[in-house]
Amino acid sequence: MKFAIQTRNDTLSERLRDEAKGYLSDFGLEYDENEPDIVLSIGGDGTLLHAFHKYIHRLQHTAFVGIHTGHLGFYADWKPLEIEKLVISIARKEYDVIEYPLLEVRINYRTSDEVATYLALNESTVKSPEVTLVMDVELNGEHFERFRGDGLCMSTPSGSTAYNKALGGAIIHPALPAMQLTEMASINNRVFRTVGSPLVLPSHHNCVLTPVNGPDFMVTIDHLQLLHKDVKSIEYKVSGQRVRFARFRPFPFWKRVHDSFIASDE
Ligand code: NAP
Repeated sequence: MKFAIQTRNDTLSERLRDEAKGYLSDFGLEYDENEPDIVLSIGGDGTLLHAFHKYIHRLQHTAFVGIHTGHLGFYADWKPLEIEKLVISIARKEYDVIEYPLLEVRINYRTSDEVATYLALNESTVKSPEVTLVMDVELNGEHFERFRGDGLCMSTPSGSTAYNKALGGAIIHPALPAMQLTEMASINNRVFRTVGSPLVLPSHHNCVLTPVNGPDFMVTIDHLQLLHKDVKSIEYKVSGQRVRFARFRPFPFWKRVHDSFIASDE
């Protein structure tokens, strides 16, 4: 089995990387940055987002596992002290693989037939670089509302504990193949109206955002932020692809939510 390690580049994460690399090599596993079967992400959830995008071209073949060197994460849920145990389980292949839904993003342009496609593990957001964002929101081909405000966020279930949560979105269990649209400071008065509540869409639905005022937008895909010019529309749907995580022990999602937001015994 081949493995790779992604770190946050701090001293502790680097030390743990050297330790894990040494142990796994002693067990006869091969370090392969290009085609790993398993990727250890050492740092935080942000580090795992980087690892995900690094190996996005081989999601069917690579499983991820996260070790946190800061606070408990949703993707990074192993403690540094558990690294020896983790490495032994990897070497013995004593793990299950669980899969989480992803978000597919397609950006169409006015001036070309080119389509930019992305996969997000957490979410994609759309903001206007200068003025208020004005977007027509279409659900399954039907006009739903004209949004005016700071921006819109479409998140995955596993990303629902990230930016989505800060925007008042619901926490969605990652066993549900869904995506969630949340508003950022919508303008609501007697003239302008949006639904004002997060929308949870199932996997056979799609959402298309069409610009009303200006063609240039900041679109984020997880930690990546890009200015897209001459945007005709942005399409969202639950992807047919999924991300795979190696699970070595039960750590139920709601327990992680509890330990992250209510109280942790760490
Ligand atoms: P960052 O700004 O350095 O960190 C954002 C924070 O979000 C970190 O504390 C990170 O945890 C946490 N996080 C990431 N994924 C999470 C998840 N699925 N559930 C709960 N917390 C999560 O940016 P970054 O590290 O590059 O991460 C990019 C992410 O930041 C975006 O995908 C977005 O979700 C999030 N973000 C949140 C807000 C907000 O809450 N207002 C605003 C912008 C972006 P770790 O410390 O463990 O890495």
